[in-house]
Amino acid sequence: MNARRPADVAVIGGGIIGTATAAFLADAGVSVTLYESGPDVAAAASGRNAGQIMRPPDPVLVALYRTSVSAYRAIADATGFRLPSEPMGVMAVSADGDLVRRVAAAVATAQPDLRVEVLEPAQTIAAEPLLGPGLTAFRVPLGYPVRPADATHAFAALARARGASIVTGVRARPWIEAGVALGVEVAGERRPAAVVVVAAGFWTPGLIDSTGTWRPIRPMWGVIAELALPIAPRHVLEEVTPDAPLLLHHPLSSAEALPPATELAPGREVPDADLLFTLNPAPQPPGGPVTPTGLGGTFTANEPDPHRLSRTLVRNARPYLPWLDERQIAGVRACPRPTSFDGRPLIGRVPGIEGLVVAAGNGGWGISTGPATARMAAEATMAGHDGGVPAELLASRFGLPAADSRPAEGRSAD
Ligand SMILES: Cc1cc2nc3c(=O)[nH]c(=O)nc-3n(C[C@H](O)[C@H](O)[C@H](O)COP(=O)(O)OP(=O)(O)OC[C@H]3O[C@@H](n4cnc5c(N)ncnc54)[C@H](O)[C@@H]3O)c2cc1C
Repeated sequence: MNARRPADVAVIGGGIIGTATAAFLADAGVSVTLYESGPDVAAAASGRNAGQIMRPPDPVLVALYRTSVSAYRAIADATGFRLPSEPMGVMAVSADGDLVRRVAAAVATAQPDLRVEVLEPAQTIAAEPLLGPGLTAFRVPLGYPVRPADATHAFAALARARGASIVTGVRARPWIEAGVALGVEVAGERRPAAVVVVAAGFWTPGLIDSTGTWRPIRPMWGVIAELALPIAPRHVLEEVTPDAPLLLHHPLSSAEALPPATELAPGREVPDADLLFTLNPAPQPPGGPVTPTGLGGTFTANEPDPHRLSRTLVRNARPYLPWLDERQIAGVRACPRPTSFDGRPLIGRVPGIEGLVVAAGNGGWGISTGPATARMAAEATMAGHDGGVPAELLASRFGLPAADSRPAEGRSAD
């Protein structure tokens, strides 16, 4: 128990980060109220993702991933949210066998603890019968598929069981006066809180700095076509590109500044070169409703037309799944990934505003790294300082919000 632990905390945002932060704070005896603008938690990225708990290549994120997997395993009995004991396996495929062998060797060198297995076309089709002929692959033991919203619902249930209050369907913003967060403003009403944690994903900077100068998180839109397939894939699948495969060496997790995403003019299609074939199986709990397989993936700065794009994704997938038909599209989901400029989350105190903590910016890895992010945010909230947050994750690395910040009505997910 920390002597300076705040009596009550307001959390803004009911995604994986907000719900897990609320659960950790409530477990420590803090009185927590979480505000979510959507009709339920997991209204944005935390409910519309590809559903893969996956080890990212960035070593800083790997540490968050490992702690997050342990956190998921620790809540299994209390919530029923269970990761499989073994990863499903990621299979990266291409018709260009030389390219596959070259990239497989590069991945093995970059991540020496990863078992990388190259499969010739006959082996590939035997291992993954959904694939068309003539594809070489390499396989790595990564990826725990989950249904997209399940992790967030599990942490929300845990937070409630530990006494946290979750209020949905209300837009909140920090109530800041003279550089001090005094609580939250909800529908014109001020509700005091000792500390405010902003875990509002992509909308986080807009709630902290209305001037638009502090924008360390940008949108990276992803569209997923939900497929009703006759048989479930045995692996997470992705195409091998000349640069590298998506999930194993993705630029979104590079420690360097990320390149800007494609900006789409109104009505314009995502260029084919920007589409990456990924197939994301979901677990099928016995007796439950069938969860569709997610076909991705896209990375654009603004929102594309998701329905048109879902048909383009099917066309783009045919070199790998030649039998795929538009009629197998059962639905579509789209959302911005809350992506920071270096691909790592922002955690801890917001410089210049007392009593304000931020936890957001996990990009395309938030389900895999969210619980660890939330634990650090909860600890910083309770300690009253950022001592437990590594320097490369501190919110302060992107500078200060404008001094006269008045939080704006940030666009919300509902
Ligand atoms: C297409 C796609 C595929 C992805 N695939 C994967 C994957 O396979 N594996 C993985 O690890 N990660 C994946 N991600 C990334 C992951 O989903 C995100 O990093 C993560 O969900 C972010 O969680 P969050 O809590 O920070 O934000 P969000 O989930 O966006 O939650 C923020 C919440 O704040 C709420 N909010 C906003 N403004 C307000 C306000 N004023 N008041 C109250 N509430 C507010 C929103 O409604 C929202 O519910 C994917 C993301 C996308 C979009």
